[in-house]
Amino acid sequence: MAESSSIDLVNLWRIVLGEIELSVSKANFTIWFKNTSVTRREDDTIVVSAPNIFTREWLENKYHTVILEALQRIEPTIMKVRYEISSSRPAAVRPIPGSNIVITKRATMADVVPPQNATVEQPRQETGTWDANSNLNARYTFDSFVVGANNELAYAAAQAVARRPGAAYNPLFIYGGVGLGKTHLLQAIGNMVAARGTLRVRYVAIEKFMHELITAIQTKVTHTFKERYRGVDVLIVDDIQSIVGKEKTQDEFFHTFNELHGAGKQVVISSDRPPKAIPTLEERLRSRFEGGMIADIGAPDLETRIAILKAKCALRETAVPEEALTYIATQVTSNIRELEGMLNRVIGHCEFRGGTLTLEITKEVLASLLARPKRRIIHTDRVIEIVSSYYNLRPNELIGESRRKEVVLPRQIAMYLLRSENGQSFPTIGQSFGGKDHTTVMHACEKIGGNLETDEVLRQDLTTIKQKLYVTAEL
Ligand code: ADP
Ligand code: MG
Repeated sequence: MAESSSIDLVNLWRIVLGEIELSVSKANFTIWFKNTSVTRREDDTIVVSAPNIFTREWLENKYHTVILEALQRIEPTIMKVRYEISSSRPAAVRPIPGSNIVITKRATMADVVPPQNATVEQPRQETGTWDANSNLNARYTFDSFVVGANNELAYAAAQAVARRPGAAYNPLFIYGGVGLGKTHLLQAIGNMVAARGTLRVRYVAIEKFMHELITAIQTKVTHTFKERYRGVDVLIVDDIQSIVGKEKTQDEFFHTFNELHGAGKQVVISSDRPPKAIPTLEERLRSRFEGGMIADIGAPDLETRIAILKAKCALRETAVPEEALTYIATQVTSNIRELEGMLNRVIGHCEFRGGTLTLEITKEVLASLLARPKRRIIHTDRVIEIVSSYYNLRPNELIGESRRKEVVLPRQIAMYLLRSENGQSFPTIGQSFGGKDHTTVMHACEKIGGNLETDEVLRQDLTTIKQKLYVTAEL
């Protein structure tokens, strides 16, 4: 495969960052992604450079899937990502080879850490390996999963399924809110089965299943796609709620499900809500899901949250005073991903500053993080301005009455963005567009949301527009 030029990589990474910024909190994005770059491409591998070992580990452990999926959406030939530490301490101003873009580097954590030897590689088992065939990450195991009252049913069911795939509960449907351990449990099932080496396992997020299906249809290789999913013994599908409104995907998934289930193969599914609460889920799929075992994961209680923090400290071999852990656990109550993020942030802070980890420092660090809004709200005018300029329209046309096709679509896109990015109410959006009725806005949002499923051009357009909204302002 041809080596990409560095300007391509710079652009590629910028687009990827734009996407990632939309899916992680502002604090996390600033901490983990701000000073990263892509240094080179080696065949199907992209090499991402991080300013220090801590960031490198964090990217590899926590954001690998997000990074890989974002890269693959733009460049499907990328199969792997390797992470390394920038070989020299970054200079204050670092020009990117082959481009005239200059990144001005502020003093960061990297500047207070002793320079790292770029060739020092962490042992793989510490960071978890990721297998492209099964999509399994070895770090998600039953051993590293803390069981509490909130998840014991799901945990027991997952173990039963992993021990006797196809025999215990089929399908197993696990549901619960964001960051509560669904993916961890699903992956743990996969890893346990895979470790025995006798059965074929495949884990997939439904979004990825959908993208693969679309690509397969476009490139006329649906048979390979079908083989890939129907030839496994254990199929694990994450975040099924995203199948809503995607008829082709529902259809293909239904057939895959039936074939596997009929042949006694195990299917495991996760969702952020129970089957009956997934709107427009086809009845035939819903009844299949309800035909197996349904287990929920709730929010962990204080004891479980502290236990999880202790487990994470043990994994990192870092001692943290009990009172600091308790403090973190009282501050972050509903999302384990965030809980873990806060712990790492506090530990990171002390590692980089060289101080002792105390309750006081913990309070300070958390205060600075929790105070920030999760996501920037983009100004309505800015959305209107960027969308109109993207489609070569004047803002007045966009908010006006014209029913011309070339105005209506951009207008609907702008409405959709205000809804999906800013969470504005339908009437508020209507107001910004010359007092249009809220039903017009609802219709626009539904239409764009629905079309995104099949319309590759629209998807690309939205990615670029979002990139302009979020990224260009900062570069
Ligand atoms: P979900 O898929 O439900 O959004 P994840 O499975 O991605 O959540 O979990 C978020 C983070 O929290 C992961 O790093 C995971 O390892 C951790 N986590 C969640 N639940 C537990 C638990 N019970 N024990 C240990 N770690 C957990
Ligand atoms: Mg998940």
